[in-house]
Amino acid sequence: MKRIALHWQVIIALVLGIIYSILAVQYGWQEFTKSWIDPFGSIFINVLKLIAVPLVLFSIISGIGSLKNIKQLGRVGVKTLLIYVGTTMSAIIIGLFCVNLIQPGNYPSDESRLEKRIEYELWLRDNPDVPRLDKECYSCKEENAELVASVIERISREGVNEDVADKIRKAKEKKAKGPLQPLVDVVPPNIILALAEMEMLQIIFFAVFFGLVLIMIDKKKSKAVSRLIDGLNEVFIAMVNIVIKTMPFFVFALMAGSLVKAAGDNLDKLQEQLVFLLNYSWVVVFGLALVAFVLYPTLVKIFVKGMSMKGFLRGISRAQLTAFSTSSSMATLPVTMETVHDNLNVPKSISSFVLPIGATVNMDGTSLYQGVAVVAMAQFHMIELDIAQQIVIVLTATLASIGAAAVPSAGLVLMIVVLESVGLNPAWIAIILPVDRILDMCRTVVNVTGDATVSSLIASSESEAL
Ligand code: ASP
Repeated sequence: MKRIALHWQVIIALVLGIIYSILAVQYGWQEFTKSWIDPFGSIFINVLKLIAVPLVLFSIISGIGSLKNIKQLGRVGVKTLLIYVGTTMSAIIIGLFCVNLIQPGNYPSDESRLEKRIEYELWLRDNPDVPRLDKECYSCKEENAELVASVIERISREGVNEDVADKIRKAKEKKAKGPLQPLVDVVPPNIILALAEMEMLQIIFFAVFFGLVLIMIDKKKSKAVSRLIDGLNEVFIAMVNIVIKTMPFFVFALMAGSLVKAAGDNLDKLQEQLVFLLNYSWVVVFGLALVAFVLYPTLVKIFVKGMSMKGFLRGISRAQLTAFSTSSSMATLPVTMETVHDNLNVPKSISSFVLPIGATVNMDGTSLYQGVAVVAMAQFHMIELDIAQQIVIVLTATLASIGAAAVPSAGLVLMIVVLESVGLNPAWIAIILPVDRILDMCRTVVNVTGDATVSSLIASSESEAL
């Protein structure tokens, strides 16, 4: 019998996982799923993360060894960062264009929008430091007095959402540090600690430093170390290949486990705001699809010689499927590194450097989603954001996506910063929480595809020097 290709096996597993989770929710198999299926998903993510850290460390060091000269490293570094910022901003602009055109926040009924508006005005009253975005005052109007009273009653009944309050606290802690703190954070005081905490930028800093010194010192002394590192690198690459072969089974477990958990947590809330959530979600997915299937393949077609749009998308499909099922660019990193090297022919000296940086700082999907979410929620609360405020969103969402960790839900936490930057209520993240997991899966696919795109662009622009 002909074997089904691995990517088809993964797609089938993914679909089976979705079907299973629907059945599980319907027939009450949640506990069974959580105890007996979900742990396999966690095992898969753990193994990928286990490989990611040493793989980044050794592949950067051995990648630097294969660079022609040190100048090339500086040039590649600057180019990488500039293109990453460029693609991130393009993604947010595409998102803002979609959300302003489709206006998903205007779809819910006028009554529910008025209720949201009053909620926002009451929040403004409690936070006098926050600037008002317009002069309207619906809560002051006589005819709304009854509605205002019922909103006040509902807010006090619901109390504080502890989960959201915790996320706001975390985002504030991050913001409270000084302007040069991100630079300080890149330099690890202790490399073992950086490895243990999976601080990717710190690990990259150490690996580049180590790799550079290794090529500077006497060849006789460095030879043994270089060979050891090259050998270790090969071991971790072989580990990725083994893990990839087992993907279908684990992807089923991941999908089943995460969807059952997400449905269990949020189904009630989901029904409350269904119209808004559905419209908002499809705009996010539409924007993400434009970036993943139009922007990136077009960039590749224009700038990478001999690469067709189809060839590019087929080449990275395995990394995309892993991103979709893990919701984590970091866990997907080993697979991205493999597929970009094997299928897109990006040399290791480029991919080993560009991809780990990308997994940490380049999150085009996350930034697009943040832009769409903030504007859509403002629309839902009857607030029009002008051009200046939307430019602020482009800038803060770029920074927030750079600062977001490459793990599930990181983009949601950092959205608090974007909401605050335009004077909106950070607790609004609770509104979109019910659909966050599924959108997280989709935006992670775009984040990973963006990294792969940029590494192809860089490799093509450096092809003469390689
Ligand atoms: N899950 C995303 C990633 O790992 C980050 C996010 O948007 O939450 O790329």
